[in-house]
Amino acid sequence: MVKILAITNQKGGVGKTTTSVNLAASLAATEKKVLLIDLDPQANATMGSGTNKLTVKQTVYQVLLGEISIESVRVKNLQAKYDLIPSNRELAGAEVEMVTLTKRETRLKTELSQIESEYHYIIIDCPPALNLLTLNGLCAAHAVMIPMQCEYYALEGLSDLVNTIKKVRAKFNPKLRIEGLLRTMFDPRNILAQQVSDQLQQHFGNKVYRTVIPRNVRLAEAPGFGIPVLYHDRQSKGAQAYLELAKEVLNV
Ligand code: ATP
Ligand code: MG
Repeated sequence: MVKILAITNQKGGVGKTTTSVNLAASLAATEKKVLLIDLDPQANATMGSGTNKLTVKQTVYQVLLGEISIESVRVKNLQAKYDLIPSNRELAGAEVEMVTLTKRETRLKTELSQIESEYHYIIIDCPPALNLLTLNGLCAAHAVMIPMQCEYYALEGLSDLVNTIKKVRAKFNPKLRIEGLLRTMFDPRNILAQQVSDQLQQHFGNKVYRTVIPRNVRLAEAPGFGIPVLYHDRQSKGAQAYLELAKEVLNV
């Protein structure tokens, strides 16, 4: 059975895309069939997977508007062994253009149903907003992974996100659950980070992944080469952390 995971947090720059790309690659490295969907007009997951957002013609945008089939948009990443549904800046217009369409919140879900049985895992990289694109991600998903940096404002944004997830559950997707909160860019020497991390564990208990993603320069470098960190420096702390996270996800 396929598991569809939305990687989301409306806060920007918390590690959603880094997590999407590297979790996809780490799961694929265990021989699982994986599809990564870039649902962000910034198209960072597209670039980080080695597809050029400036030249790619067919993207998730046309899929959401019902112009082309989801199968025809897939790009196979032969090195990292996962498939990608790319994005580009056109997707920024989808929000407005979809307003007149029916069932606009569940368009991704409907399209995905055509191909989901081919995969073990589908990872959706959401944009930093609680908008119609993120809503499509949440409606299509079975579970949500929330990457977050352990800093002061992190917990504030979390309540908005949890409320949105509750609304989606009530209206569109009753089985949607929060699978876990992922601590990203973690620096154990930072006392505030430790405190926020402790608070997270108190509030959310075993919803916090055991795996912690450290701040690691290899993770920041890899997108520049269009490859997941696993193929940039497998021994790096960042690569090892995402392999560990994949194990945790496989065991849930
Ligand atoms: P956005 O909200 O804009 O989509 P995001 O939540 O997807 O951002 P990323 O793009 O994954 O966040 O990360 C933000 C920046 O931090 C990027 O430059 C990325 O390379 C860097 N980064 C992410 N995780 C780490 C890490 N563990 N160590 C070092 N740098 C990191
Ligand atoms: Mg991103």
